[in-house]
Amino acid sequence: MRFRELAEAYARLEATPKRLEMRRILVELIRPIRPPDLARVLYLSQGMLRPEYEGVELGVADSLARRAVATATGTDEGEVARRTKASGDLGGTTAELLEARSRAEAAHPLTVATVYEELTTIARAKGEGSQDEKVRALVDLLDRASPLEGKFLVRFVLGTLRVGVREMTILDALAEAFADGSKAARARIEAAFNLSSDLGLVAGALVEHGLDGLDAIGLEVGRPIRPMLAEREPTLAAVLERMGGTAALEYKYDGLRVQAHVGKDGTVRLFSRRLEEISAQFPELVADLPRAIRHRPAIVEGECVPVDADTGEIQPFQLVSKRRGRTHDLDRVRAEIPVCLFLFDVLMASGRPTYSEPFPERRTLLGSLLTPNDHVALAEQRTVSSVEEATAFLDEAIAAGGEGVMAKSVREGSAYRAGARGYWWIKYKRDYTVGLSDSIDGVVVGAFHGRGRRAGRYGAFLLAVYNPKRDRFESFSKVGSGFDDARLAEMPKRLAKYETDAPPPEVESGIVPDRWMRPGLVLEVRGAELTVSPVHRAELGAIRPGAGLALRFPRFTGRFRDDKGPTEATTSQELLEMYRHQVRQESAPDPESPDETT
Ligand code: ATP
Repeated sequence: MRFRELAEAYARLEATPKRLEMRRILVELIRPIRPPDLARVLYLSQGMLRPEYEGVELGVADSLARRAVATATGTDEGEVARRTKASGDLGGTTAELLEARSRAEAAHPLTVATVYEELTTIARAKGEGSQDEKVRALVDLLDRASPLEGKFLVRFVLGTLRVGVREMTILDALAEAFADGSKAARARIEAAFNLSSDLGLVAGALVEHGLDGLDAIGLEVGRPIRPMLAEREPTLAAVLERMGGTAALEYKYDGLRVQAHVGKDGTVRLFSRRLEEISAQFPELVADLPRAIRHRPAIVEGECVPVDADTGEIQPFQLVSKRRGRTHDLDRVRAEIPVCLFLFDVLMASGRPTYSEPFPERRTLLGSLLTPNDHVALAEQRTVSSVEEATAFLDEAIAAGGEGVMAKSVREGSAYRAGARGYWWIKYKRDYTVGLSDSIDGVVVGAFHGRGRRAGRYGAFLLAVYNPKRDRFESFSKVGSGFDDARLAEMPKRLAKYETDAPPPEVESGIVPDRWMRPGLVLEVRGAELTVSPVHRAELGAIRPGAGLALRFPRFTGRFRDDKGPTEATTSQELLEMYRHQVRQESAPDPESPDETT
C-alpha cells in the first residue's frame, strides 16, 4: 500500500469533526487493506508503532525533527524554527518547505511498509550515535515524501498526529469493514480487543478468519488484559440490592492497580491500570511474586499500596505515587516506601485461563495458589447478606486504612469482564453518603493565564469528562484551587506536549481558554455538588435544554492520574449518574432532622 493513500485519509479525517464521517473515512481506508499492512495502518493511525502496552516510543525531540526537516529541504534550521513559531506545527512547515522544493515525484514512492520499517528503526535507535541515526532515517523518509506525506510523518514522530482516531472508532470501523457492522459483531471484536489489548492482532484475525477467528485470541502471559471496572451505588443497601442480597465485600485499597504476569520461568511483568509496563518501578514485587505464586504461568490482579515496614499497616496513597515513574535511586525509595500488593483476582493459573469462571471460584483458586509474603498478600474479603454485616465490614476496612469497600457479585455469570464497567463490581467509599464527595477524574482540555500571585503561569484549567458514546471530551469545570506552588509550577511542563492553537476537534466547551490542550493529562478533582450550566457541555441537554453538567467549587485533590489515559477519565454518563444520585439524596428525608409528624 502506498503511504500517500494513508496521508490523504489523514487529511480527510483531520478536516471533519463528525464521528460518523470519521468512521466512514476509516472504513473506506481499511477495507481494501490486508495484513501485515492492516495492523501497521491501525497502529500508525493512533500515533503508535505497536500496541500501547509495549510502550514503544520514537524518542524524537522537536530539535531533532527540525534538524531533519532542515536537511531534507535544504533550509537553514533557524528558518525552519522561525516559520514554525506562529503555527507551532512543524508538520505544516514541513509541507510548505517540501512544496517549495518542487520536484518530480520520487522514483520510489513511499509505501506503508517502508515508512513503518524506518519509523521502527528510529524507535529502536538507542545510546551513542542514536540521535544522528534517527535524523538520518527521518531525512531518508522526507527525501521521498510528498508535502502531505511529510506533514504527517513529522507530526507522527513528534507525537502530534491529531487525526483523532481512537480505539472505539477503530472498533466501529472494523465491524463495518470486515463484518456485517451489527452490534453483535462489534461486541465480539471488542471482546477480543479487551482480552488482547492489541487492535492489530484483532484486525488480522478478523480479516483472515472472520468473526469466528477471534475466538482463537485468548489470554497470553506478557500481554495485558483490559481491566474490569466498577460502578457506584450511593448506599450499602443499594449495593446489596443490586447484587441480589448477597455480595463478597473486599477492602478497597487506595493505591495503584497492578496486573501481574508471572511466566513459567518466574519472569514477572507488571502493568498499570492503563496497561503501561511498570515492572522496573517495583523490583520487590518482581522478586517476590514468583515465590508467592507457584501455579505458573499466571496472571493475577491486585492493588499495590504503601505499607509501614515495621507494622505492615497501610499508609496513605500519596506515598506510593512517589514511586510511579521512578527508575533511579530505587533502592533508597524502596526502603523508605515499602509496598504490598493485595491480590483480588486471578485470570490465569497454571497456564489455564480462569477469567470466565464465576468470581467465587476464582477467589477460592486465588486463595489456594497464593503463598503470601512481605510484598504479596490476599485482599481481605467477607461475604455479607445484610446491611449490618456490610456496615461492620466497611468500618473494619476504613479502620485498616482502606478507602471503602469493593462489592463483588457472587452470582452465576460473575466472570471477569475485561474492559467493561458494570454492576458486577460496585465501589463504595464511606464518603459517598455526604453530598458529592466522590472524586472525578477530569481531562485537561485548556488552560487560563494566572493573575496576581499566579501571573506569568497558568492559573486555572478547563476540564472535561469523556463521552464514549460520542467519542468526545465535554467540559464540566474550570478548576484553579487545590494547586500548591509545586504542582502549579509542574503544570506547564506536564501540558507542553498537549498544547495546540486550535480547539481540538474532539473537545466541546462553551468556554474558550487562553490555551487549548489536546486531551492527555488527567487530574482528580472534587467539588461541592454537580449542577447544570449553559457554558459546559457534559451530557448537554440531559437535564436541561442547552445546559451541560458542571461541578461547583471544584478543587484539585493533588493527585495526577498518570495511571489513566484521557479516555479512561470519568465518563459523562458517570457524571450524569452522580448527578442523579445527588438529586435522589437531596430529595430523600434527612434522618437527622426532626420528624414533622410527631
Ligand atoms: P475506575 O478504576 O473505576 O475507573 P478509579 O481508578 O478512579 O476508578 P476508584 O473509583 O477509586 O478508582 O475505584 C476503582 C479502583 O479501586 C480499581 O480500579 C482498583 O484499582 C481499586 N481497588 C482497590 N481495592 C480493590 C479490590 N479489592 N478489588 C478491585 N479493585 C480494587
